[in-house]
Amino acid sequence: MNVLVLNCGSSSIKYQLLDMGGEPVLKAKGIVERIGLPSGMICHKNDKDQAYDLETPVPNHTVGINLVLDALLSKEHGVISSLDEISAVGHRVAHGGEYFTKSVKLTEDAINKIESCVDLAPLHNPAHLLGIRAIQNILPKVPQTAVFDTSFHQSMPASSYMYALPYKMYETYKLRRYGFHGTSHKFVAQKACDILAWNFNEKKIITCHLGNGASITAIKNGESVDTSMGFTPVEGLMMGTRTGDLDLGALLFIMEKENLSVSQANSFINKQCGVNGVSEISSDMRDLQSESEKGNERAKLTLDMYAHRVKKYIGSYAAVMNGVDLIIMTGGIGENSCHIRDLVFRDMDYLGIDFDFNKNDGIRGKDEMLSKEASKVKVMSITTNEELVIAMDTVSLVFEKQLS
Ligand code: ADP
Repeated sequence: MNVLVLNCGSSSIKYQLLDMGGEPVLKAKGIVERIGLPSGMICHKNDKDQAYDLETPVPNHTVGINLVLDALLSKEHGVISSLDEISAVGHRVAHGGEYFTKSVKLTEDAINKIESCVDLAPLHNPAHLLGIRAIQNILPKVPQTAVFDTSFHQSMPASSYMYALPYKMYETYKLRRYGFHGTSHKFVAQKACDILAWNFNEKKIITCHLGNGASITAIKNGESVDTSMGFTPVEGLMMGTRTGDLDLGALLFIMEKENLSVSQANSFINKQCGVNGVSEISSDMRDLQSESEKGNERAKLTLDMYAHRVKKYIGSYAAVMNGVDLIIMTGGIGENSCHIRDLVFRDMDYLGIDFDFNKNDGIRGKDEMLSKEASKVKVMSITTNEELVIAMDTVSLVFEKQLS
């Protein structure tokens, strides 16, 4: 049973084909880029690691999805022989607003609701809708699902999600904190509980998803009770190119001094700040680590700032939940950067954490315990896989009856 997982952006389509018949198997993955520009391209790789790149104009998402299907069907580098072998399509959808508390099978009503969240995610939701409509045209009989970045965080209490703005801003614009990366936070927390044979619904867990985008979530008794991203993904931790938490007055000051329009300011806080902006070296943690080892003081400052903010959120979420049983590090940085983990977990013994600094040094891209046996609070590195969550949710939504 093959599930096609799609993440449609405004100018790109990322895809994976997973066989979900038994243990999930990744059969192919790739990306279509530069949709709408004069020269587009597709980069495709199958399960035998055969790569296939093609430069060709991709005027719209329907053409892009047809390219994906052609690649999957190709005699040379394809993995299926007929489109009938695609049982369902699961879409990553950035914003479900207050409508969706979990993944859904796509109906016209669900599509209309995603459409009404366009205001909240003006870059992402329109692109997802183009992908959904393209699949409806090309594969009209194939069921589709939507898996939302926001839905896991819908359990947050109003005291977490409201901003201290006039209440009418919430009533008029639905302006509130939504949070993102929900699929990843939930997945790694559940996976860790499975490994530890713990009941997910009885634990206090802090999940740190540290990738290019980064967010941290407090999960109490199986529900998100607070998360660091807000109305947009800019809030919270320092990220590759996003500011994270910033005094709003500082932004107004910069806009005035540098004469920035709203859209320039938006691009500034999303693309020119964070790790890249402070270091003036790179947004990639690996570059900063190697520069820091060579004695570059700015790289060291950037790494220290990054870790300081993660530490600060961990402390505040332990306070929010009246304690914590488990802290999880995930995402490219959380799973791989021993250096950042080392900085974050220094001097955290007050919280009941006995971190194993020696073991931490060798752990990259693995599900592993990073705290010592006797540590009251456990710390783990857990690998995330958002596409797998989308495929799993799709199977359970579409084939519920057949599976049970
Ligand atoms: P995205 O948010 O784009 O999915 P990822 O989760 O892939 O991002 O994370 C990308 C980040 O992970 C980059 O900053 C990269 O430097 C970092 N990273 C990947 N591998 C390592 C490593 N071995 N050591 C330190 N950082 C790493």
